[in-house]
Amino acid sequence: MRRYSIQTKIVLPFLLLFACVTIFVPLLTVELFAWKYSEQFTRETQGWLNTIVETGFIREDSDKVKKAYSVEIMIFGSDYTLNHSTLIGLSDAEQDWENLAKKMRLSEVKKHFQKADETPMTHDVTLAGKPYKVFYLSLPPERFYCLLRPMEKIAEAKRTLTWYMLGIAVLVMALIAFISYRIGKNLTNPIKVLVDSTARVATGDLDEQCEIKTHDEIGELAAAFNQMTRDLKEFRDQLIQAERLATAGKMAASFAHEIRNPLSSMRMLAQMLMQKPEMLGEKHQRSIRYILEEIERIDTIVKGLMEFARPSSLDLKQQPIAPVLQAVLALMEANLAHHKIQLVLNLSRETPEIQFDSDKLKQVFMNVVLNAMEAMPQGGVLQVSTFTENNSVCIKVEDTGVGIPGADVEHLFEPFFTRKTRGTGLGLANVKRILEEHGGDVEIESALGEGTEVLLWLPVAASA
Ligand code: ADP
Ligand code: MG
Repeated sequence: MRRYSIQTKIVLPFLLLFACVTIFVPLLTVELFAWKYSEQFTRETQGWLNTIVETGFIREDSDKVKKAYSVEIMIFGSDYTLNHSTLIGLSDAEQDWENLAKKMRLSEVKKHFQKADETPMTHDVTLAGKPYKVFYLSLPPERFYCLLRPMEKIAEAKRTLTWYMLGIAVLVMALIAFISYRIGKNLTNPIKVLVDSTARVATGDLDEQCEIKTHDEIGELAAAFNQMTRDLKEFRDQLIQAERLATAGKMAASFAHEIRNPLSSMRMLAQMLMQKPEMLGEKHQRSIRYILEEIERIDTIVKGLMEFARPSSLDLKQQPIAPVLQAVLALMEANLAHHKIQLVLNLSRETPEIQFDSDKLKQVFMNVVLNAMEAMPQGGVLQVSTFTENNSVCIKVEDTGVGIPGADVEHLFEPFFTRKTRGTGLGLANVKRILEEHGGDVEIESALGEGTEVLLWLPVAASA
């Protein structure tokens, strides 16, 4: 089946409807007018005929009548022969009396008058190449008086009027076609944009946003569509992230297992060697210290991996968060001072007690503070504050460090994403996972070269 566009569906019915109105109504009007006019015309002419016959002018002064009324007069005898005529220029055929009588339909007229019918008798006849309307009157001694009114001008006027009407109809139709085309276009353009957007989204491009600025139903549809696409993208990204985390977790678990045992053996052997410094030269001692340092580093990574992979069970307790934060900061105090980092604490007294696993939260907070510290190699200010908003407690950690490039922002929570030569890329992945396990979330805002702000959210009513 043929598919019509919405525009065609709008334009076509309009056009058909108006075509009917603009063509048929004027034509009908012309016809109606002609019919009414003809009635009036007949009555008027019949009156003339009666008067002319009564006054006798029709016989004696038919030329005067012709001039006065602009009509032609013909008088026929009872045998249908033409007695008198003002009409000149009859063709040869028309001059033959039988032919003429037939054309004038005299036998029919005779029957009409014999029935003593009072209604006026008229016929349309073409004589000498011109149309006439003939009005008849029969008077003794059996004569037929015919008055012929030329119809040429009236027919011409009717034709002209009809053409005018048709011309106006065509103009109106063109105008309506144009207007309905514009209306159709206005309505369907936003729909087309929406359809194109949908097609692009269908091919998997979830960054597509439909640009429609109208404030009608289509605008609402576009807004809903955009929202839907954004949600879809977010959902897809979350799914990818979750899948990645799951895979990374499995890998991490098996890696950590395999590495830890040989690592402890290596550490033990190195430590044993270090216990006999007299057997080693200065150079060898330095090498073994270096080996031990590197083993520690690998161990940190492995611990991070295990932490990440461990199926966690939370040990939730209703408690205040400030002591946990203070404990971590106390541990790091010396380190912060060493890096010339000034600590500003802004812990709100109104922060309610909430349910959380204090070990896990320590781990989270430590990771974030460590990141802040590492972002300020030349020193700076570390500000830690807490506040409550929307039924959640927020721990805000701000630094005046190097900041994060825009392109990195969306990868921060991916496992193994790091910009540090000695980083594991597991810190923030762990932070996010632990907070999500608590029913909370983490947000990071950063300005390159100015600093970074990490918001750790925990719900007041824990949903573990
Ligand atoms: P790691 O610290 O091992 O690199 P994280 O997951 O803790 O792994 O951090 C990932 C990356 O995020 C870091 O390498 C760093 O580029 C960036 N980052 C995190 N916190 C900050 C911060 N406070 N300032 C600047 N960059 C940061
Ligand atoms: Mg880190």
